[in-house]
This record gives sequence, C-alpha cells and structure tokens, in this order.
Amino acid sequence: MSTETLEFQAEARQLLELMVHSIYSNKDIFLRELISNASDALDKRRLAGLKDDSLKTDDLHIEIEADNEARTLTVRDNGIGMTRDEVVGLIGTIARSGTAETLRRLKENKESAELIGQFGVGFYSVFMVADKVTLLTRKAGEPTGVRWESDGDGTYTIETVEDAPEGTSVRVHLRPADEEDALYDYTDEGKIRQIVTRYSDFISFPIRMGESTLNSMKALWSRPRSEVSEEEYREFYRHISHDWTDPLDIIQMRAEGTFEYEALLFLPSRAPHDLYQRDARHGLQLYVKRVFILDDSRELLPDHLRFVKGVVDAADLSLNISREILQQDRHIQLIRRRLAKKILASIKELMSKDAEKYRTFWREFGPAVKEGLLDRTEDHKAILDIASFASTAGEEPTTLADYLARRPEGQDKIYFMTGDSRAQIENSPHMEAFRAKGYEVLLLTDPVDEIWVEAVHAYEDVEFQSIARGAVDLPSEEEPSPEEAGEYAAVLSWLNETLDDVKEVRLTTRLTSSPACLVSDTDGFTPALEKMYKAMGQELPSVKRILELNPKHPLVSAVKTAHEKRPDDPELSETAELLYGTALLAEGGDLADPARFAALLADRLSKTI
Ligand code: ADP
Repeated sequence: MSTETLEFQAEARQLLELMVHSIYSNKDIFLRELISNASDALDKRRLAGLKDDSLKTDDLHIEIEADNEARTLTVRDNGIGMTRDEVVGLIGTIARSGTAETLRRLKENKESAELIGQFGVGFYSVFMVADKVTLLTRKAGEPTGVRWESDGDGTYTIETVEDAPEGTSVRVHLRPADEEDALYDYTDEGKIRQIVTRYSDFISFPIRMGESTLNSMKALWSRPRSEVSEEEYREFYRHISHDWTDPLDIIQMRAEGTFEYEALLFLPSRAPHDLYQRDARHGLQLYVKRVFILDDSRELLPDHLRFVKGVVDAADLSLNISREILQQDRHIQLIRRRLAKKILASIKELMSKDAEKYRTFWREFGPAVKEGLLDRTEDHKAILDIASFASTAGEEPTTLADYLARRPEGQDKIYFMTGDSRAQIENSPHMEAFRAKGYEVLLLTDPVDEIWVEAVHAYEDVEFQSIARGAVDLPSEEEPSPEEAGEYAAVLSWLNETLDDVKEVRLTTRLTSSPACLVSDTDGFTPALEKMYKAMGQELPSVKRILELNPKHPLVSAVKTAHEKRPDDPELSETAELLYGTALLAEGGDLADPARFAALLADRLSKTI
C-alpha cells in the first residue's frame, strides 16, 4: 500500500512547533487530551449504534498500554474511528476561527498558555512528550483503516491499511524522561494511574490498563456536591468546555417529579472570543440517563445565557431525540426556563458571596446578559437585579438597588444617558443640571444599552429616564421666568425659522455652563441609537430634535440683543448655525457639513484676534 507524505496546514504547523518546544510546564495533560478524544469517539459510536443496528456494539472502552522497553504508550478506543479524509481534515488541520490570532498572542506571551485550550487543539499536546506519534484508525462500518504518522516536524505520512481494528489507537513514542523538564516516565503504571484519577475519573467509559479499571466512571452531576472535590469539577469543566481557565462558579440542580433531570452548569471566567458570533458553538451537553446525546444544545438555554457550559441529564427523553424535536419539546422549554432562573439566582448569590467574582462575571458577560432584556421573558427583573452600570457616583459600577438606595429624597426617576464612552457622556451638556443638583446618572456605553432602554421602562416601579430626552423635570427645577420667556419670544421664533435642522428652539434651565444643547423628543431616537441603526445598515427617517438654550449664558443673551438691534444681519444666522453646531459636537454628534462649520468658525475667530 502506498504511503503519502503530506504537510500540516500552516497554522497547525505553528502550533506543533509550540508543542514540540513545549511551552507548558504541565506535560501530563497530553494523556487527558487523548482520553478525552477517545471518550468523545465512544460517545459517537454509542449514538451511531442507536441509529443503525449494524453499528451496535458493546463493551465500549478505553485501553492504555505501556511498553517500558520500547518506550511507547498507547491509548486505544473502540469508538467511532476516522476515515482517511477525516484524519487529514481533523488531525492535519485546525479549522477553528481565530486560530491565527491565538497563535500570535501565544507567541507574544508564553505565560498565557491556557489560551490554547480554548481552541481545541488537544491532540497536538501529545508532541510535548513524543518524538513520534502513530495513529491507527478505522471508521465504524468501513472496510479499511488508515495509519497516520508524524514526528511533529511539519509533515506526516498517511497510508491505507487492511487490518486495523474498528476505533482508534494512538501510539506515543516517548521522548526520554527528563524530570527536571517535567517530562516524566509515562510508561510508569503509578504515574498513569495518578494522571487518570486526577483528570479523567469521571469519564463514563472504563479506562483499562491490564486487568484493572483506572476510573470510577461516576457521573459528576449526580454526585452530591460535598463528595466532589473542586479539582474534579475543574477537570470535568475542562473536558466539556475545552477552556483551560477555571470556572467562576458551579451550579448544580436536580428536578424531581413527572419530568426528571439533573444539571451541572459552569459559569466560565472569561468570555470566549466568539461570544457575539451567530454561528459560534454554544450550549449545553444533553445526556439521557447518563448517555451522551447532543453537544452544543442551544435549546437548553436562552440566548443571553449562551456562554454557560455544562450538562443536562434528562431521564425521560428518548435516546433518539433529534435537534429538531428538541426545539419543540415542551419539557425542554420548561428546562430552559428553570435553568435560566437558577442561573440568574446563582449570579445574584455570587454578588453577595464574592463581589470580586461577580465583577469579573459582569465585565465578561454583562453585555450578553443584557440582551435578555430585549426578549419577551419573565426574567427582566432578575436580569436587572444582577446588572451593574457605570455611574457618576464613582469609578465602580453600581447596581440599580444601590442607585435607588442612594437617591436623595424627591428623586422619582432613574436617570441615565447612553453614549459611546464614559468621558463623552460625562462631558455632555445634558449632564450639567444633574451635576449641579448632585443627582446620580447612569452612564450606559454598551451598544445593547441603546436598545434595552427602549424596551424596559422601570425597575422597582421607578421609571428610567434619559437625561437627553424630552424636557427634564427635575423635582426642584425652576421654569425659565416669565420675564425671560417674554424677552426671548422674538429671538426664539426667529431661530425656529432660521434653523432648518431643528424641530423647536426653547429655553431651558438644564444647562449651567453651556450655551445650548440638543434633546430628543420623548419618543424620538437618540443620536447614538440612530448611529447604531446606521452601522447595521438600516436608515432611519432623520428625526429633528429640539435646541435648548441657556438664557444665563452670555452668548445666548448676546444673540438676543443682536437680534433686537439688527434682525436682518446675515452674520446673525451664521451665529445661529454655529450655536447649533456646537451643541451637536458637544454631545458627540456628527455635523452635516463639517467644512462649512470650520469655515464659519475660522472666520469668526479671525475677527476676534
Ligand atoms: P478537539 O478534540 O478539541 O476537537 P483534537 O485536536 O484533540 O481537538 O482533535 C481533533 C479531532 O480529531 C476531534 O474533534 C475528533 O473529531 C478527531 N479525533 C481525535 N481523536 C480521535 C479518536 N480517538 N477517535 C475519533 N476521532 C478522533
């Protein structure tokens, strides 16, 4: 049979190089990765047997064989196996998005080795300990098998073989042990036992060596919390999530009654790079009576909690359940609602139990969780309970409960403003009156904030109020005096006519140091929201806003006086334009004709010098 020599794909080659030069101190984990792959292959084989009788098999297991003389370690499974194309595609290639970026970061920062695990490159970790790897595999139901071999130097050989057993065996030709480099003797039975108990005890198939079975095979989710060590949970989390960082929190639940299920869920401590990509792999693993059924079951979680990892084991589902059925199943919908409630409740608990962890959680996942405020769910209150927001009260984000507790007597609204950044909002003229009165304003800078504030109206019966919308009715605010109103009537109506871009010009007391600001109608779009729709390619009918003037400002009173004296002076309408343009700039808006604005301004400045 002819042997072909092929090259690893470029990214795979770089990754291999990192492995060969072994940047990780913990090399033991190569065995965990091989066992984890074998266990996945056994899951797939069991499923295939459920669907196709001819693929039914029993005694699914993993076998470890060590040969001290030959210096080899073999991990064998009688799982699903791989075809030749699969070997080339799965082992010779890394298909995940973001790989190039991760490699770059890995190379820059050798410390952040755990990054690598996010990308499911487990198999390559074998090259930390091997100078050659031989993989022999036959796909269940196929007549012939494949031998694959590589010493990790950028190429591999592949050939068809007649006599491979079904399943996969990976033979690792070990490098000489070098304990100083944490390269142990991986043919030593004690060492192998230690690694398996530490990392792979929960694997649901027997891991055998000689006569003995090395793992307990106990499903972690059905064991009481007190009997399982943190380390066991961590390893299980790694197995299902491919994330090498530790989870932030563990959530366990059990439902009894007519529809029984158990769930073991994990909050990751870091958002995956594809959290906001539609086609990313999210969701839980679904088991039925301890049998693995489906990966990435998004149906088990609402979208805004898609980052949660874990397992749901339902007792009463059919082993043949498909994704299509899952989407419609009433029980699954019930589970999803219950899990969502439980997760939100656990995060609330985390807030008081471990504030630091909660802050990490919210920083990483807050924007995703807030998406839940856009859905029609019963969880709005629970989401707002665990939300926190930047605020003018200090550097640290605040919860809504704390905001309400701090508010002075008489304040009957939750004030907020949306925008691109904290600095931009804080410097906006709309802020002035609130700052002067000492009212706290929430600074909402996530894109999703623009949308949920449209959908959610109140928290604990206190309404949300944008400070950039409508007239502000601060409790102690004084109306502009009637005399002022009378004096300004003429100039206001002139401005109304002159400025095409605004809907109305009126006096305000919301400003203390700026001459003017723009506000939206109560039901109009804010500029930030408009921008966002534009970015998404949607055009909104452009909505005119209201120009509010501060009669206490010298520029405003000077315009009034000038208008009284020379109502037809063309320069005066240019001043009006400048006034409007400055208000627009102050809130971070875009001028319709920046060149004209600059020219007018330069002209004015040159006259003052
Ligand atoms: P990951 O397991 O994270 O997907 P790996 O590099 O460890 O990444 O493996 C790549 C792929 O190769 C696996 O997803 C699986 O499809 C296939 N594979 C690896 N080991 C086996 C095995 N023992 N049996 C069948 N397929 C395997």
